[in-house]
Amino acid sequence: MPRALWEDLPVTSTFAEPRPSGALLLLGQGSDLASERGVECTGALPAASDPDLLERARVARAALGDRAFVLGHHYQRDEVIALADVTGDSFKLAREAAARPEAEFVIFCGVHFMAESADILTHDGQAVVLPDLQAGCSMADMADIAQVEEAWEVLADAGVAERTVPVTYMNSTAAIKAFTGRHGGTVCTSSNAQVALRWAFDKTGGRDGEGKVLFMPDQHLGRNTAVLELGLSLDDCVVYDPRKPDGGLSPQQLRDARMILWRGHCSVHGRFSLDNVTAIRERVPGVNVLVHPECKHEVVTAADHVGSTEHIIRVLDAAEPGSAWAIGTELNLVRRLAATHPELSVHYLDSTVCFCSTMNRIDLPHLVWAMEELVAGRVVNRIEVDPDDAHWARVALDQMLALPGLDPAPTTVD
Ligand code: SF4
Repeated sequence: MPRALWEDLPVTSTFAEPRPSGALLLLGQGSDLASERGVECTGALPAASDPDLLERARVARAALGDRAFVLGHHYQRDEVIALADVTGDSFKLAREAAARPEAEFVIFCGVHFMAESADILTHDGQAVVLPDLQAGCSMADMADIAQVEEAWEVLADAGVAERTVPVTYMNSTAAIKAFTGRHGGTVCTSSNAQVALRWAFDKTGGRDGEGKVLFMPDQHLGRNTAVLELGLSLDDCVVYDPRKPDGGLSPQQLRDARMILWRGHCSVHGRFSLDNVTAIRERVPGVNVLVHPECKHEVVTAADHVGSTEHIIRVLDAAEPGSAWAIGTELNLVRRLAATHPELSVHYLDSTVCFCSTMNRIDLPHLVWAMEELVAGRVVNRIEVDPDDAHWARVALDQMLALPGLDPAPTTVD
């Protein structure tokens, strides 16, 4: 059942809308002046300004009924979330998709790597649809499979590949997950990165031994987890830059390192700065700073709490009424948290807008178009992973599922 429109909820008086950031809003080549979003689409995309758009969405969703299952990532816009059957982070949504084998169509309102994971975890009779194929993830794009294969050769030449276990964040392409599966590694999420790293180090002789981890593609999650949760030092970490010869590292640096971090980052969480933390503490005395582990190390160490998107939601759900919180994650989610927690004083950590611009490509026109096409019997924007990659990516995903500490079976939100 569609959720209530979050924008109908009152936003608390303490929530200050951040200033617009032009760099993040200039998206796509829109032909509809009411929208700055990408509208390059093979079909007849409805105009964002169409006053009947919401009604068309409801009609198409009702016509699809149980044949379709609509997934909405926490960072999606309000009007998309309102039509989602379930919301969650990338891993929760992939598991939700796998738990609905009866759904003919899985409409994934997220980004490309998430739809790939859903395709890997669902059966062949289900079609995973991404309403806008331009909804990619800039972090996932920072690790190309050819670059990763080359990096592995660099590690082999330095004599460390056989002592290295690859660990890839969920936010990576199916090809990178498949690489990880082929080389005996595991996928991880921001919730279980600590468990995944412990497993990987144990596999190569323990954290005090000779073993190493190649962590892709988010250097910040890898560094924060290794240093803050496993007790490694910053000197144990090196950054492999795929744009430099041999990653910009000498064989000796590779031999000395424990964590080989891929030079990738999230364009949203990477924007938060130490200055943001200092400024909010001056502006709101007693504020609790809660940030995502994709933030830079200096931001995470200056924060009071660190955790995944799901963790951030749980912390605010359990927070003491009247307490003040500054949240360092994507703006759509923070605005909804502010709207649904009027008993709290919720603030955005940055003073400027910080949406995930690629996630925001999934808008009502694209969702309506995709659903109306499915109603008409045409499957559009289907995401299908190459069978060999799907097999090996599944190996790495199954390894993650075998790690201790994952949440139990998913629950549906209606
Ligand atoms: S928030 Fe960052 S990691 Fe998540 S989809 Fe957007 S760019 Fe990728």
